[in-house]
Amino acid sequence: MPKTDLKALSKQGLESFIRESGLPAFRTKQLLHWIYEKRAQSIDGITEFSKELRENFSKAAYISSLAILKRLTSEDGTEKFLFGLEDGESIESVLIPDKDRLTLCISSQVGCAMKCRFCLTGKMTLRRNLKAHEIADQIISAGRLIEPRKITNIVFMGMGEPLANFDEVVESLRRITGLLKISKRRITISTSGIAPKILELGGIGVPRVNLAISLNATTDEVRDRLMPVNKKYPLSSLLGACRRFPLEPGRRITFEYVLLEGVNDTMDDAKRLAKMLRDLPCKVNLIPFNQYEGSEFRRPPDETIARFQNILVDKHITAFVRKSKGQDILAACGQLKAGYC
Ligand code: SF4
Repeated sequence: MPKTDLKALSKQGLESFIRESGLPAFRTKQLLHWIYEKRAQSIDGITEFSKELRENFSKAAYISSLAILKRLTSEDGTEKFLFGLEDGESIESVLIPDKDRLTLCISSQVGCAMKCRFCLTGKMTLRRNLKAHEIADQIISAGRLIEPRKITNIVFMGMGEPLANFDEVVESLRRITGLLKISKRRITISTSGIAPKILELGGIGVPRVNLAISLNATTDEVRDRLMPVNKKYPLSSLLGACRRFPLEPGRRITFEYVLLEGVNDTMDDAKRLAKMLRDLPCKVNLIPFNQYEGSEFRRPPDETIARFQNILVDKHITAFVRKSKGQDILAACGQLKAGYC
């Protein structure tokens, strides 16, 4: 019989496994502590268990672990991890230090099917969805690699569209908040705009995390060209879902807007954007495009970026210009896995 991967089990699944193995219920709590807090990579590493128990337990179960295949550090302190999965696929996670925060940007799929034109990951096909434990394990594995530093924030902005892998992402949120004990206020899910799933994300029983929308255009015509998802869920349906998303008091939706020269960076775009968002509690992150060799888009000049931001601010929309981090190691937004595929 194949061994059971304890990390792949939900809390309830682990409880059943322990019960069926004839072990007392308190072993579940011990195992959860060792897997999620002490980051044990094998049953043999659980020193709280007797040698005999470890040996017996190892006959039926094991603890899977992401393999670190590559670790790159950028000049600005950003770190990129290439992790190997059990089936030979690989994914990337990026650690971004910023003042008192240490944010880990995690992947939810191997590749992506959304085909956003400005994104290098989108040039890969979707290879498969990640399981909940593979999503959460990026936090456990990166946490082990960077000890004694601690990850404070999580963003689902790595490879993949999180809402296209909804059930596994939601289960991973339960583990990240409940077992890894990261506050839901410090977790952000970023989506290209699958409107019905945004509403499901705001539903009962789902940890109420922060929402970010990768917007990138102010007309359906331009967004259709940049992001094929818009043909199915145009701006009216996307913004309608955002308006109905239940926000916790004091929270705002983040709109990400990659600025592409001559495509979506005009002053009319800025005015339309302000008008579109005026009734939404939100902030806008303007991200000047990370130009790479052979890219079809260009980064707008600094004056254009500043003017765009000023129009939003004048119209009372909170807007920041985000510097892309880790550009020298291809860790910036939309560049994940680019160096490997
Ligand atoms: S931007 Fe996000 S959703 Fe779009 S192709 Fe890239 S990874 Fe997929």
